[in-house]
Amino acid sequence: MAEAASSIPTHTKAWYYSEHGSPDVLKLDPNWPLPELKDDQVLIKVVAASLNPIDYKRMNGLYKDYDPHLPTVPGFDVAGVVVSVGREVHKLKVGDEVYGDINEEGVTNLKALGTLSEYTIAEERLLAIKPPNLSFVEAAAIPAALETAYEGLERAQFSAGKSILVVGGAGGVGHFVIQLAKHLYGASKIAATSSTGKLELLRKLGADWAIDYTNENIEDIAEKFDVVYDTIGEPDRALKAVKEGGKAVTIIPPGLPPAIFFVLTSKGSILDKLRPYFESGIVKPLLDPKTPVPFSHLAEAYSYLETSRAIGKVVVYPI
Ligand code: NDP
Repeated sequence: MAEAASSIPTHTKAWYYSEHGSPDVLKLDPNWPLPELKDDQVLIKVVAASLNPIDYKRMNGLYKDYDPHLPTVPGFDVAGVVVSVGREVHKLKVGDEVYGDINEEGVTNLKALGTLSEYTIAEERLLAIKPPNLSFVEAAAIPAALETAYEGLERAQFSAGKSILVVGGAGGVGHFVIQLAKHLYGASKIAATSSTGKLELLRKLGADWAIDYTNENIEDIAEKFDVVYDTIGEPDRALKAVKEGGKAVTIIPPGLPPAIFFVLTSKGSILDKLRPYFESGIVKPLLDPKTPVPFSHLAEAYSYLETSRAIGKVVVYPI
């Protein structure tokens, strides 16, 4: 026990920024001090971390009114190994392989120590045990995007036999919306949009109808849908593709009522609930061809994600 305690680090190697801006504000600190573990938290040796658009939006200063603290170590999604637990941690133990989105609220109360760090800290309730069949890279690709896909479908009261149009089906969130709509909810019909080169991918993910947005406008399609899930921030167009009595959900602020807008609440319990789908391989994270990006190349990963052309998820590994 004494040996384990003495091996717990007090400092970590971490990427951080002290000013908002483009990826060149990122700097590597070999000795970032780790805050003291609170009772409900665990210390994680990070193995892999995925990037989300919130990471570059936050770094650009888009949320600085809610998130003024600088310097900041970025990163929401993590997969790693528990190396220490707080006094009120009951389910997780040292050695557990875990994954999760470490920021409970999507844009408020964000942590100054994120996941792009050799060690990070998270509340037990935000984490889940990693399914053993998933690699750390695959697990890191899942949390925020999957939880957003799920929360949006729940808020839209999606259910078996309903039709859905996923606007932006090839991205981090969209590729999970397609898979959950098909395998968790039993959609009657799934349509999804992308540019020309990604249409086959949409079909492989489970879309019955792959719509090339460079040729077709969703508002002009004669068929309407029970739910339209907008991941690109065009709720006005999404609303025009909804059936009477149906719902549009959008995840990019400010939203446009009656489209349902929400900000993700991170919950390890969603990962637990969907665990059987990952264990059976029915639902899979899609990894962008650039994945994994080495830890030393983080700025390139940010620049790439910022193009909005990523396919599925960009994961940083090894850390
Ligand atoms: P990604 O960066 O993974 O999305 C990239 C994908 O978007 C690409 O594959 C691209 O496909 C597709 N895309 C871009 N423009 C269009 C378009 N006009 N029509 C169809 N597809 C398009 O982003 P995420 O999926 O991770 O996130 C999507 C958005 O949702 C982000 O703005 C993010 O900040 C937000 N978000 C909000 C959350 C919330 O809580 N409210 C939570 C999570 C994400 P192609 O190259 O074919 O165009």
